[in-house]
Amino acid sequence: MGFSLEAVREAHRLIQGLARTTPLVEALSFSDQAGQPILLKLETLQPIGAFKIRGAAHALLRLDEAARRRGVVCCSTGNHGKAVAYAARHLGIKATICLSNLVPEAKVQGIAAQGATIRRCGTSQDDAQREADRLVREKGYTDISPFDHRNVILGQATIALELLTECPDLTQIVVPLSGGGLLGGIAVAAKQIKPSIRVTGVSMAEGAAMHESLKAGHPIHVAEAPSLADTLGGGINLTNQWTFKLCCDFADETLLVSEEEIYRGMQALFRRERLIAEGGGAVGIAALLAGKLKLDGPTAMIISGQNADLDQIIAVAKGEPVRVGDRMVKG
Ligand SMILES: *Cc1c(COP(=O)(O)O)cnc(C)c1O
Repeated sequence: MGFSLEAVREAHRLIQGLARTTPLVEALSFSDQAGQPILLKLETLQPIGAFKIRGAAHALLRLDEAARRRGVVCCSTGNHGKAVAYAARHLGIKATICLSNLVPEAKVQGIAAQGATIRRCGTSQDDAQREADRLVREKGYTDISPFDHRNVILGQATIALELLTECPDLTQIVVPLSGGGLLGGIAVAAKQIKPSIRVTGVSMAEGAAMHESLKAGHPIHVAEAPSLADTLGGGINLTNQWTFKLCCDFADETLLVSEEEIYRGMQALFRRERLIAEGGGAVGIAALLAGKLKLDGPTAMIISGQNADLDQIIAVAKGEPVRVGDRMVKG
């Protein structure tokens, strides 16, 4: 299918310099509670504060000269846009990022700081994608999908290489899940290295497009809802090419966490480990604390990003309620 270990290793070599090999650290407070080693893969320490630099860097590095000259466009819930903007700036490529009005201000600022052109459009990922499609037709830009793109998936898959090289004993990897580039990439690579490993995806309870699609047996439309895990919003495309099949074939399980559970996950990472994670980066810990994971050995949690609004992080750290859409959430 084009996701051989050799292809993942090649991606890993290519992205050096743009993406980092991130630390894997045991979180003793969670290990003690869980009765199994809990290891945190700190993608929060990537240059853009999230793992998405891996896929974006790989996709841009693979473009030919003509495509690089024309420029790139993408839609994004924030982190992919920041990653594309960052990689494009370093490679001298013009980037336009299409964002719906659901994308939080901290993420918009982060993208603007990388010098990319920003288009705000509509209130869903679908609206943002339509604008990206229009720019592809009118300007000849190359669209870099946030997840359903072979080179993006291979980039995200490099996390599995790092995990199983550093810690071959892992029995499970827990992965935040939206479009499934991260889960699909990690699962297809990890199972080639260690077929017995369990790979679990975690999404927010409302608007979990991949989870609902896997249940239905085909990609379905799911309404987008406000969430502390805003970065996990958006559909998987009814014409999904890669990630639905990868998640179907290689992920063992997907599960859901509530807004209150996500709040508690973010708070526990901050209070116990002094780590900042955005909601989407804390869903694995949220599932752990809620007793929703089946643990049978050393477990790696992908702490996928840290780009939350500062006010939100401070409120969660203090235990104050935070606004999510039109309601207030507290752990
Ligand atoms: C994009 C993103 C995810 C989900 O990745 P997918 O490949 O879309 O499933 C998880 N966490 C963070 C912080 C993200 O930015």
